[in-house]
Amino acid sequence: MVIDTVVIGAGWSGLTAARALAGAGREVVVLEKSRGPGGRSATRRTDGARFDHGAQYFTARSAAFGRQLQQWRDAGLVQRWRPRLAVLGDRSAHRDPEETHRFVAVPGMNSVCRHLADGLDCRFDARVAGLRFDRAWRLEMDSGESLQARRLLLTAPPAQAAALLGPADPLHDEVAGVAFWPCITGMLSLEKTFDPGFDAAFVNRSEVLSWVACNSTKPGRQGHNWVLHATAAWSQAHLEQSAEESAAQLARAFGELAGDSLPPVALQTAHRWRYAQASEPREQGHIGDAARRLAIAGDWLAGSRIEGAWTSGRKAGEWLAGLD
Ligand SMILES: Cc1cc2nc3c(=O)[nH]c(=O)nc-3n(C[C@H](O)[C@H](O)[C@H](O)COP(=O)(O)OP(=O)(O)OC[C@H]3O[C@@H](n4cnc5c(N)ncnc54)[C@H](O)[C@@H]3O)c2cc1C
Repeated sequence: MVIDTVVIGAGWSGLTAARALAGAGREVVVLEKSRGPGGRSATRRTDGARFDHGAQYFTARSAAFGRQLQQWRDAGLVQRWRPRLAVLGDRSAHRDPEETHRFVAVPGMNSVCRHLADGLDCRFDARVAGLRFDRAWRLEMDSGESLQARRLLLTAPPAQAAALLGPADPLHDEVAGVAFWPCITGMLSLEKTFDPGFDAAFVNRSEVLSWVACNSTKPGRQGHNWVLHATAAWSQAHLEQSAEESAAQLARAFGELAGDSLPPVALQTAHRWRYAQASEPREQGHIGDAARRLAIAGDWLAGSRIEGAWTSGRKAGEWLAGLD
């Protein structure tokens, strides 16, 4: 049986595209290698503690995304987050324009993606291992199963998308050449409240940390949970070390930064994002190959970040749905 459209990836771009395709009457199957939706906008649950360990919040710059955001707010899926926000250090890498309105999904950053996945045929723990085109797309799954699809949308980060396409594919080099920064994220659950005078901070004066935030100050969250993002350079240099080592080093750097000893730590762990954000995002929206009914989407094709992923997914989904 040939499926009309397969979408690879259940992050913001893949699910937004899948919704657009389903809305246009296309049969859609979403294949996701992880256990649930969200991609880099993920929420980690560990021993009862919850952390937004990928995307921290999002903003809305375009009118289209602003309208979508309002619908999610009305549905109670998204709320505004008003942290006491510090900018530590005088390097100009980050500023805090005061007019920025920051929004978070509730109760976790993956909640909007869960909502988008609802009612779609999403298959989790489903890793695509290889692709081949011969009048239709043939997808080889890690499980040994194979699927066929008339249309294909690829939303894996570029290095992974390029590997799936293979070196002989005409789009391989365009996709493979996109550089991404890594990010190691530390997650700390403290035994009691820790107030360094801010709820979140852009960090410009550390070789180790670039962002710290008390996750529990976001609407709908509980506990004394902090998320610590390492700088791209530190992450690159420490990419292959264990999660335990990273967690301990990031916690130490946080204590030094806050200038105070941390309360006892109930839990500490870390996650490695090998592909966190594009170093030079593009603005073309999506890549399309009409002859093969193939589209490529993702945050990196629309300025990066969540709004870019949504914009790219919507454009790619509408384009793919409109092909014969
Ligand atoms: C640490 C960090 C902090 C960030 N902070 C912010 C922020 O504060 N604000 C903001 O707006 N953005 C932030 N971002 C960026 C934001 O998370 C991304 O822009 C957005 O989530 C990208 O969505 P996407 O759908 O394009 O890609 P992804 O979320 O990467 O989705 C791609 C999906 O494809 C799946 N996949 C890959 N290969 C396969 C395969 N072979 N088979 C099946 N499935 C596969 C992956 O598992 C993934 O779920 C941050 C990202 C990171 C990592």
